[in-house]
Amino acid sequence: MPSFSQSGLTCPNGLTLKPLAPLANFTTWRVGGPAEWLAEPSDAEEIKFLINWARKNKLPCRVLGAGSNLLINDSGLPGLTLCMRKLHGSTLDRSSGLVEAWGGENIPTLARRAAKAGLHGLEWAIGIPGTVGGAAVMNAGAQGGSIAERLESVSVIPLDGTESFDITREELNFKYRYSRLQNENLLVLSARFRLEPGHNQQELTERTNQNLHKRTSSQPYHLPSCGSVFRNPEPLKAGYIIEKLGLKGTQIGGAEISKIHANFIVNTGKASAEDIDQLIKLIQEKVKRAYGFLLHPEVKRLGFQQKY
Ligand SMILES: Cc1cc2nc3c(=O)[nH]c(=O)nc-3n(C[C@H](O)[C@H](O)[C@H](O)COP(=O)(O)OP(=O)(O)OC[C@H]3O[C@@H](n4cnc5c(N)ncnc54)[C@H](O)[C@@H]3O)c2cc1C
Repeated sequence: MPSFSQSGLTCPNGLTLKPLAPLANFTTWRVGGPAEWLAEPSDAEEIKFLINWARKNKLPCRVLGAGSNLLINDSGLPGLTLCMRKLHGSTLDRSSGLVEAWGGENIPTLARRAAKAGLHGLEWAIGIPGTVGGAAVMNAGAQGGSIAERLESVSVIPLDGTESFDITREELNFKYRYSRLQNENLLVLSARFRLEPGHNQQELTERTNQNLHKRTSSQPYHLPSCGSVFRNPEPLKAGYIIEKLGLKGTQIGGAEISKIHANFIVNTGKASAEDIDQLIKLIQEKVKRAYGFLLHPEVKRLGFQQKY
């Protein structure tokens, strides 16, 4: 059984469950209220222990990766929040191209390691500041590449405490910024990718660096954001539509529609989740009035009652 200490509940293996832990530092927007309970497990056993603890205490349980696609309400989140950042690491096989990564592995780190090993297929991913688990959930993509193209399977642990199992790429129903993981209460423990072996390391590293440069020179990487806020209403680009409406630079509180890229909302210093949420709704209203359709957020909202 966990025991109380000043910093929270200490589990038998030394893992701490922190009460009322502020989540702003766990999201790239740097906003969000406290988690009722927060834990940062570093292996599968800890995860299973925590999921059971939440079940026994009848608490909801949810998962954060790097929080780079999340808007968390200022009032915080009830129940147990599991942050996956400490479950990181990967193994890369230079001859077969098979890559196995833990769910909390940082995507840019993986992209760099793959390039160094002469494995082609993740150079596009360098600018995505998420984790392997979050990227699989979101089918993250950029510059023509996407996770769906390289992922073979994921191992998941159900948040209802039932047995872990594997899901293949075919079963994940990948679409544009979508996988079936978005509709199911599953934690992505690890993922397997198949990359192309035998490529020139230097060329891959140069391409990776060029891709990062392209991103950082055309997008506001210097301020807290969650990347693109809205899905592109193909064939149009959300950023183009918002820019055409003259909305770049519009502010609500500390949240601003980026002057560099109109599909980014940046935190200029003191934004609240409410400021960002209001700005998202303002953009939706203006676009609806001008174009007659609703822009759908790519960003996931946690702890909000009302849907967009
Ligand atoms: C500067 C910037 C640039 C970006 N550029 C891009 C881009 O080019 N392309 C793109 O696709 N995205 C981009 N993003 C958005 C974001 O990085 C991706 O969506 C990323 O895949 C989210 O990963 P994450 O680990 O941060 O997930 P989070 O934001 O933490 O979570 C996203 C969703 O995944 C779930 N989740 C996370 N980890 C797990 C897990 N292990 N198991 C189960 N569920 C999990 C969460 O519950 C949530 O529903 C950008 C973000 C920023 C800040």
